[in-house]
Amino acid sequence: MSDDVTVWLLGDQLNPTLDVLADADRLLLIEAHGFADRRPYHTHKLTLVFSAMRHFRDDLQERGHDVTYLQGESFGDALAAFLADHPETTLRLMRPASHGAADRLAELVAEHGSHLDLVENECFLTTPADWREWTGEHEPGRTYRQEHWYRHVRRETGILMDGDEPIGGEWNYDDYNQETPPDGWSPPAAPAFEPDALTRETHAWVTERFDTWGTDDLDGFAWPVTRAEALRALEEFIERRLPAFGRYQDALVAGEPFLAHSLCSPAINLGLLHPQEAIEAVEAAYAERGAEPGAFDPAGDGVGAGGIGAGGTGDTTATTLAAFGDDEPPEDTDTTLPPVPLNAAEGFIRQVLGWREFMRHVYRETMPELAGANQLDQPRDLPPAYWDGETEMTCLSEAVGHVREYGYAHHIERLMVLSNFALLYGADPAELNEWFHLGFVDAYHWVTTPNVVAMGSFGTDALSSKPYASSGNYVNRMSDYCASCPYTVSRTAGEGACPFNALYWDFLKENEEFLRGTGRMGLMYSHVDRKDDEEWEAIRERAATVRERAAAGEL
Ligand code: FAD
Repeated sequence: MSDDVTVWLLGDQLNPTLDVLADADRLLLIEAHGFADRRPYHTHKLTLVFSAMRHFRDDLQERGHDVTYLQGESFGDALAAFLADHPETTLRLMRPASHGAADRLAELVAEHGSHLDLVENECFLTTPADWREWTGEHEPGRTYRQEHWYRHVRRETGILMDGDEPIGGEWNYDDYNQETPPDGWSPPAAPAFEPDALTRETHAWVTERFDTWGTDDLDGFAWPVTRAEALRALEEFIERRLPAFGRYQDALVAGEPFLAHSLCSPAINLGLLHPQEAIEAVEAAYAERGAEPGAFDPAGDGVGAGGIGAGGTGDTTATTLAAFGDDEPPEDTDTTLPPVPLNAAEGFIRQVLGWREFMRHVYRETMPELAGANQLDQPRDLPPAYWDGETEMTCLSEAVGHVREYGYAHHIERLMVLSNFALLYGADPAELNEWFHLGFVDAYHWVTTPNVVAMGSFGTDALSSKPYASSGNYVNRMSDYCASCPYTVSRTAGEGACPFNALYWDFLKENEEFLRGTGRMGLMYSHVDRKDDEEWEAIRERAATVRERAAAGEL
């Protein structure tokens, strides 16, 4: 192996503090464009990825690194040119998160007469060895449970621990995290990152060069594209929005696509933020400003408490990414930071330390089967509403609208609206996965696939023993949508009944053989058993009509 080392960084490894950079003689970044021709990606997603890579190049150069930045149709073209210029270099790469990519890239490098030195991917908190230590040997078909992994990692890392016990005595405070905000409450503002000249230039090139989906407009684009911006976004979230994060984590509110969510996934998944720094920052905030579970006061007067009618930092209009304008608290605002209730801190840490790391390892364990998993044999194409957002269903129209406009929808929109509808409708999980993959700014195969195919579609029981399926009741309980929706959530059958309801019961009936004995489905099937033939006939008829209309784009 040559002493001359080139570290090749992929587009989701954009972190200037990585250990792997220390021994590098030069850094290589390749902007390959061909992949983006394969699907009509969201304009904001391509803009984000390419702009972040270009900013990263400049950042690395300012930090004194020797950077080679190549643009080409494929990695192959660019590598050929690079290796012709540097035939003696050792090319080092952090193991890519995407299944099969390490082998493909190693082969590609070998075709050009060189060797690819693959090292651990530092962009995650836990390693494959950590996972293996927890699971033992790989067993095909094995199932995994996030809660067990989460507790294990908390114990191993000491995060939010008091000796051997979880801080506060409980591992999980989700009982406090299922509320909806009172009328008039708005989340505190999060920072908007006004696109600079490089982002604007990148966006103009993306719209010209690629066949994209979602809005072409750059107005709503406010994602951090540099590490400095990503750090500021995290800081602002922790200062102002974290207190409300837990309590309203599962809520759906018209005109509030972001609520108090952190909006950190695009930056974390690009590498701009390390998951560990997000976790540690929240843990530190809890250490400094911690309060008992449930202590958040929506009418509170702290900087972070939006206050009923106070509109967060004083703005009474609905909050959009574009309106996430204020980097500075308004002058008349009390600058004392609001308390961080334990349910908020624990809730956030569980998402990142538990779910994100867990999904990454489940993906590694279960690919390639995971991508095609479809244990319920769901056959249908996605309804056109997923593409054009045209539907009278308020919840679906809101959620698809958010994706079209921002390339973002929060977790409950993803799970309980977008996936839930596709699941009950009978959509093929692989097609739903494609849709999520191209439509979301934070989507990468390793994270989208377990979330969509396993969690959202129940294509496999690898990570849950029952599907996340629900009737219109869930959306009604967690949102203010149903009151203004033309469909009636209290009705199951007949014209005008909420489409979720008939689809839900029909789904349970159709999949009875598979589902009745699984997981915690007993209660659901006790309701199924109470329905008489007449009810089933009406349900079937309504479900068939809903599916027909959805397929025709007339729902
Ligand atoms: P917050 O609600 O503020 O959560 C904090 C952080 O926790 C997130 O930034 C993220 O890093 C992490 N997180 C939480 N849940 C998960 C999870 N299930 N898997 C991985 N990370 C998690 N997340 C992606 O990053 N990319 C995806 O493509 C993606 N697709 C999804 C598809 C479906 C069907 C579902 C149900 C979930 C998906 N998620 C995905 C997980 C989760 O919905 C998003 O991470 C989250 O909504 C991102 O918004 P946020 O940063 O505001 O998150």
